[in-house]
Amino acid sequence: MQWTRSETLALAQQSCTYCYGLGLRQGRAGASTPCNCVFRAIFRACNARFRTCALKEKYVSRVSLEANPGRLRKSVWGMKNEEFIADFCLVSRRVLDDQAYKVFKFHFLLGADWKLCCNRLKIDRGTFFHEVYRIEQKLGRTFRELEPHPLFPLDEYFNGTGRQQRVAATVTPFPVESEPHPKPRPILKFPVKKAA
Ligand SMILES: [Zn+2]
Repeated sequence: MQWTRSETLALAQQSCTYCYGLGLRQGRAGASTPCNCVFRAIFRACNARFRTCALKEKYVSRVSLEANPGRLRKSVWGMKNEEFIADFCLVSRRVLDDQAYKVFKFHFLLGADWKLCCNRLKIDRGTFFHEVYRIEQKLGRTFRELEPHPLFPLDEYFNGTGRQQRVAATVTPFPVESEPHPKPRPILKFPVKKAA
C-alpha cells in the first residue's frame, strides 16, 4: 500500500523529534517512509477498540448484515466486535516472535503493568518498555497494511466501506467481450441490367 502525507499527518505525534509531527521521514533510499510514531498511534487506536469490544457485555453484541458486492451479491451476517477481537489476537500471534508475544499477552491482553511483567518475565524496566515500543510499531504497521482487510482505519473495518470501494475499483464496469467483433458484411453488388 502507498502511505500518503494526508494520512500520516493526522496520526503523527506533534512532539515527535524524528518527523516533527509530519508523520513521514526520509528513508535510506531517499524515499519517504511513515514514522514510528504513526505506527504506534495506529496500534493504540486498535488496542483501545479491542479493549472496548472485549469488555462489552455479550448481550450488547451486534449482529450486522454486510453487503458483499461481488458477482453473486450475497449478503452475509457478521458479528463485527467478535471478529475484531479474533483478528487482533490472531494477527498479533502470527506476527510477533515468542518473547515479544509474551510481553504482548501479559501487558496488552491480560492488562499487567510493567512491574508485574518485569517480575514474571525476569526482565528490567528498560528492556520491557523497549519491547513494548517495538511491539506497538510492528503491529501498528501490520494492522494498517494487512491485505485484503486491514484492521485500521477502524470505521472502514466496522462499516465495511473500504471493502466495497476496493472491490468497486477492481471490477470492470462492463463485461469484457471474449469474442471478436463480427466482421462487417460485405456490400453486395448486383449486376445492373443494361437497357436493351
Ligand atoms: Zn514521528
